Amino acid sequence: MSLIPLLPIFHRFNREFFDGVLTKGTSPIVSVRWSDGRLRNTAGLYRRGYKGYRQKFCEIVLSSPVLINLPRSAVESTLCHEMIHAWIDLILGIREGHGPNFHARMDQINSLQNQFQISVRHQFPVPAKLPRWWGICPSCGKRFPYKRLVRGAACKQCCDVNHDGKWDRSCVLAYEPIRSDG
Ligand SMILES: [Zn+2]
Ligand SMILES: [Zn+2]
Repeated sequence: MSLIPLLPIFHRFNREFFDGVLTKGTSPIVSVRWSDGRLRNTAGLYRRGYKGYRQKFCEIVLSSPVLINLPRSAVESTLCHEMIHAWIDLILGIREGHGPNFHARMDQINSLQNQFQISVRHQFPVPAKLPRWWGICPSCGKRFPYKRLVRGAACKQCCDVNHDGKWDRSCVLAYEPIRSDG
């Protein structure tokens, strides 16, 4: 399965559920995109802030790893959920998370159609990220599973026992990929 284009859905929802207020002319007032493979702990997010010096951003990001194998309705409910966050922030100008305005708009949209249902949680099974590396202590030889490389991580036990609990170069873990058989 491939990632479906989000903009047409955004424009349709904007017309049907948000009275067209999430666009200025034909441009969305919040950008909408798929994530790369790293966004795994949530199905989607809305955020606004600064990138570097004075460069503003405002975006809805949907998780490609979480949503890629789920039905279209999961993509639609996630996008619509994040559009409610954008509407509360950009149009109402308030900060409330999943508060009364969120619930009111969510209930309204849920009652207007039956293609998808929005909830306050993104209750999709998130594929677990398995550890990919062994961190091996050069001093005692113990192995610790890591999901990503942590530079300078040391064996706690050896630091405690041999170096009064202080970090020591001799206990810094060496990494080796974990071989997954099948
Ligand atoms: Zn939310
Ligand atoms: Zn050790």
